[in-house]
Amino acid sequence: MVYKNFIAGSWADGNDATRNINPSDTNDVIAEFARGSAEDVDRAVEAARTAFPAWSRSTPQRRHDILKRASDEVITRADELGRILSREEGKTLAEGIGEATRAGQVLGFFAGECLRTGGESIPSVRPGVGVEVTREGVGVVGLITPWNFPIAIPAWKIAPALAWGNCVVFKPADLVPHSAWMLTDILVRAGLPEGVLNLVMGRGSVVGERMVSHPGIDAVSFTGSVSTGRRIAAGCVGSQPMKKIQMEMGGKNPFVVLDDADLDVAVEAALNGAFYSTGQRCTASSRLIVTEGIHDRFIEALSQRMTALRVGNALDEATQIGPVVDQSQLDTDLEYLERGQSDGAHLFAGGGQPRVNTPGYYFAPALFTEVKSDMAIAREEIFGPIASVIRVRDYDEALAVANDTDFGLSAGIATTSLKHAADFRRNAEAGMVMVNLPTAGVDYHVPFGGRKGSSYGPREQGAYAREFYSTVKTGYTAH
Ligand code: NAP
Repeated sequence: MVYKNFIAGSWADGNDATRNINPSDTNDVIAEFARGSAEDVDRAVEAARTAFPAWSRSTPQRRHDILKRASDEVITRADELGRILSREEGKTLAEGIGEATRAGQVLGFFAGECLRTGGESIPSVRPGVGVEVTREGVGVVGLITPWNFPIAIPAWKIAPALAWGNCVVFKPADLVPHSAWMLTDILVRAGLPEGVLNLVMGRGSVVGERMVSHPGIDAVSFTGSVSTGRRIAAGCVGSQPMKKIQMEMGGKNPFVVLDDADLDVAVEAALNGAFYSTGQRCTASSRLIVTEGIHDRFIEALSQRMTALRVGNALDEATQIGPVVDQSQLDTDLEYLERGQSDGAHLFAGGGQPRVNTPGYYFAPALFTEVKSDMAIAREEIFGPIASVIRVRDYDEALAVANDTDFGLSAGIATTSLKHAADFRRNAEAGMVMVNLPTAGVDYHVPFGGRKGSSYGPREQGAYAREFYSTVKTGYTAH
């Protein structure tokens, strides 16, 4: 069976198809999925443009009801969707089910947002004039998503887009089409009119490029790597008309551990932040910045917990760390393992490829110590379960090292000092700051996003999502 694209209200064949392979067991071919062409994008944009006038003027109640139905179905089927996700992406079953549940919650939040739209009435500076500030949908939005959150990221882009009355052309990552297909199917059956949501699976170099250059797309929201983000941003700004953009990209997130930290809290947060989801999270804490007084106790305790983590098949309930997503990411992880050692860091524990019953892309979490802030393993996003410990004298040096990065997504600190916690929250150069919590793991009703090389454009999620998915109109009326 080949799973089809969804264009202009119908399931449509692609030019080509891709085989979706389970990274926990490369003998397991999940299914084939259509790969779209530039012409498929053209048809999807045309359908979305045709649907926009009616959809953007539909009642908030109608949009609410559709998103609410989809939310209920995703939550009811979270176990099944989570299993599909874990099978195609490789995160553990618990993580997959958790992500599917999160997608349902996001849909539910934005169902509510449909009913919370409103405007402002402002007295004019001129007599006899009234001013009204309102928001409208942007038009047709192109959504391009990465492989590491195959259902949550699509949900947190599609839901606000629809809530604000936009029509959507959605391109998921080529590695994880199944979750995207399931989400589309649920939304369509929830009652979306023809053309409002179009799914065009396929390659970034074909489907994604056409979306970026297409004159019928008004805005592009992208999540993925910095290099792709830069290319897409340049294309969107260079296209006619210029497109509104929102780019969520990489991270090299610091987690500071101070001498006064509760050791258990620090180890738990570092273990989760650095290694869970196989380190494949933009918010992963791959830089552990540790003051001298607690350094040796911290690395000893963390390495004990890390080496006890069970690496295995994502669908095995006992597994704590699933495989990395594909051969290319495995090669990257192995290269950085070599690079760290050749640059002079000490591989304190872990690394390498453990034996597992099924053939997959398995990599054991690795902990480097004696890392300097200028080493490649401390500067570049690896996107695997590899953490670097940088030893520092005191809080001031820790903060300076934490901010010594091109990225600025999330930053964390373990401390029992109110003074240092408050200072870090204020001065960490990141979009999200965590005190005594892992750098990864966020709420869905508050803004998500970063600074510096990590993000460009308005925040995602929560009520702040309206900044991207709506446009402001200022109306003047003479009384
Ligand atoms: P990626 O390689 O940049 O791909 C992201 C998406 O862009 C995919 O759908 C990809 O298509 C598409 N694409 C590739 N080239 C394109 C082009 N020329 N034009 C238009 N679209 C194109 O990133 P990834 O490997 O999937 O994801 C990992 C990255 O995402 C990491 O850097 C991670 O930090 C980042 N990330 C950031 C956040 C955040 O919120 N800040 C969240 C999650 C992940 P294909 O299907 O062909 O690859």
